[in-house]
Amino acid sequence: TAPRPFNFSAGPAALPEPVLRQVAEEMLDWHGSGMSVMEMSHRGKEFGTILAAAEADLRELLAVPPNYRVLFMQGGGLGENAIVPMNLSRGGKVDVVVTGSWSRKSAGEARRYADVQIAADIGKTGVIPREWALRDDAAYVHVCSNETIDGVEFQELPELTHGVPLVIDASSHLLSRPIDWRRVGLAFGGAQKNIGPAGLTLVFVREDLLGHALSICPSAFNYETVAANQSMFNTPPTFAIYVAGLVFQWVKGLEYAGRRGLAAVEQRNIDKAALLYAALDGSSFYENRVDPSCRSRMNVPFFLKNEALNDTFLAEARAAGLLQLKGHKSVGGMRASIYNAMPLEGVQALVGFLKDFEVRHG
Ligand code: PMP
Repeated sequence: TAPRPFNFSAGPAALPEPVLRQVAEEMLDWHGSGMSVMEMSHRGKEFGTILAAAEADLRELLAVPPNYRVLFMQGGGLGENAIVPMNLSRGGKVDVVVTGSWSRKSAGEARRYADVQIAADIGKTGVIPREWALRDDAAYVHVCSNETIDGVEFQELPELTHGVPLVIDASSHLLSRPIDWRRVGLAFGGAQKNIGPAGLTLVFVREDLLGHALSICPSAFNYETVAANQSMFNTPPTFAIYVAGLVFQWVKGLEYAGRRGLAAVEQRNIDKAALLYAALDGSSFYENRVDPSCRSRMNVPFFLKNEALNDTFLAEARAAGLLQLKGHKSVGGMRASIYNAMPLEGVQALVGFLKDFEVRHG
């Protein structure tokens, strides 16, 4: 079969081709069960093995400590913007560090449940602020560890919170690199970037944070209830969990630069991002406006200095087999999302196209 185009969507995003092929092969009859995974009871033994394997593999890949629960939920990142404060804020104080559009949105939603203060704001500086005005009695501090729209990523999680739990919205870089659990009380993310189909939301929560949900919190979104029922309080997104499980297997087996598993994925992501930023920085035709200290390895927003060429750029890119490069509507320009499933060859093809387009239109 002909090679598929390279897909730079910010999410739902490209999945590893071997996973898609396996899903296709197993669609009508999963492992001799006579059923598609979509058609199985979530309480049957077949799905039980799928969920258990997915959780075990995810825990192994991210070295999740035993005192963290892994929850397979629904509601997405925006759902979590309400679910987190309903579970963790106790109606008290929440500090938010704004590094882009998603953390700003999280602050806005949390205001419905808690006393929210912006502890720092990146504004238009393109660099994550180092000084945070934190309150010692805040229930938690929220950051978005990778801003999908703005292309800003924490390369290291801060130690600044002095015992106040840190909540990270890791939606768009989950499983692209290790997580420093010493600094994290809760991490959440939708699956639709690095992990699988939309509809599955992953939550990692330290056990001591359970049990404080506001009474208005829906039972299906109460972490303690979900944890006590092994993510089976209600029907979990079974098919998405199955595909995520195959992606975890794929990550475990990935080899790159003498590494294997998450270390291979991370190194490949580092190399892909370096290649693309170098091409953008080396040209006066394109620009990325984020400080190099906090540029995202996953989402690379960039602009053509001559914005009149935007439509031509996108049309020619599409014709060259480079899909979904249009920037988010709130910032314009272009964005290349280069999640785990994007091979190095995809970024090489994009860089080649950037150079070629500049020669023809520069
Ligand atoms: N947070 C981040 C960092 C995101 O990238 C997104 C989605 N692009 C969201 C939250 C919202 O996620 P959802 O659409 O799954 O609610």
